[in-house]
Amino acid sequence: MSMADMREPIESGCPDGFQYMHPTMRKNFGQWKFHDDPQPGVLRHVAFSGDQVFTIKAGTQRILDVFTLRTLCDIGDKFDDGFIRFTIRSNIEFIVTDEAKVQPLISALTDAGFIVGGTKNSVTSLSHTQGWLHCDIPGTDASGVVKSMMDELVGEFTACNMPNRVHMTTSCCQINCGGQGYIAINVQHTKPPKIDHNLVSNVCERPSVVARCPVAAIRPAMVNGKPSLEVDEKKCICCGACFPPCPPMQINDAEHSKLAVWIGGNHSNARGKPTFQKLVASGIPNNPPRWPEATAIVKRILKEYKAGAKDWERINEWVERIGWPRFFEVTGLPFTKYHVDNWRGARASLNASTHIRF
Ligand code: SF4
Ligand code: SF4
Repeated sequence: MSMADMREPIESGCPDGFQYMHPTMRKNFGQWKFHDDPQPGVLRHVAFSGDQVFTIKAGTQRILDVFTLRTLCDIGDKFDDGFIRFTIRSNIEFIVTDEAKVQPLISALTDAGFIVGGTKNSVTSLSHTQGWLHCDIPGTDASGVVKSMMDELVGEFTACNMPNRVHMTTSCCQINCGGQGYIAINVQHTKPPKIDHNLVSNVCERPSVVARCPVAAIRPAMVNGKPSLEVDEKKCICCGACFPPCPPMQINDAEHSKLAVWIGGNHSNARGKPTFQKLVASGIPNNPPRWPEATAIVKRILKEYKAGAKDWERINEWVERIGWPRFFEVTGLPFTKYHVDNWRGARASLNASTHIRF
């Protein structure tokens, strides 16, 4: 084939964001002099050219119905310059260049029931998965957990009273999404999967399921004359990784699938090394529709962080300074044997450097 016959590769993935940017942002791309925070929920970016851009941030639910989306877009058309964008934490941002448009836009959002905030040293919206709607392995409705928690933390979303910005995350299964924050509320399975042997040979590719287990606890077996699988429950760490490729290995359980809270993770390496999350509360009831037990623990951690951290300390920095024993003391959370990573493979795992020692 000659060079002339070659076609351009077909690019996939998200479209070029520049086409959707506010023209002033496009014009000043990479040329920003500074930014500040005139009030909670509002950012101001000033360019070397003298242009300035105001960003007004409001919280939304992650799964937007068409009515709400149209309401938000109508507000954008009427009160800003017709440009919006969503953040990874499901906040919507309206962009204006005229300072006189900021307060009318905030009033329009507030009148329509949206909450403006989530900037600077606030507790911004939780980033969350929504597997209950679209994924094949959720053990809880992470979006419901987010709604319940943010209802109680709304005062921290609208104000900037925390020592530094607080990012939280949820996950709806134990193995995949979630964890990009200083506090992570994750699913925790506590019992090995229950196998429906009648279905395994019809539904599952047994070699893939065997290969999926991180601790080699699954092996092929014949049960009642049918090819199936068996689990060595002493080895099983209840991770749930076998459930996606083999739904008959049911691990979700109304009583034994719990929530756990992990804290101290930090993906950024701007001021220090990235850090891993550590387990601080486990076995929390997965208790819809309001998850009061998990919310109470998160509020307790935030209260102590707010009271004890120095200005600009993030949660992981605060805990590293006071030490983990003191963290458990001030929060009153029980320290149990389950907090120690004593899994026999732990020395080779990512958690090897995060053992808690008293
Ligand atoms: S956390 Fe797990 S269940 Fe939820 S969306 Fe991600 S992979 Fe799916
Ligand atoms: S839950 Fe995890 S550890 Fe247990 S059998 Fe399944 S894949 Fe293996």
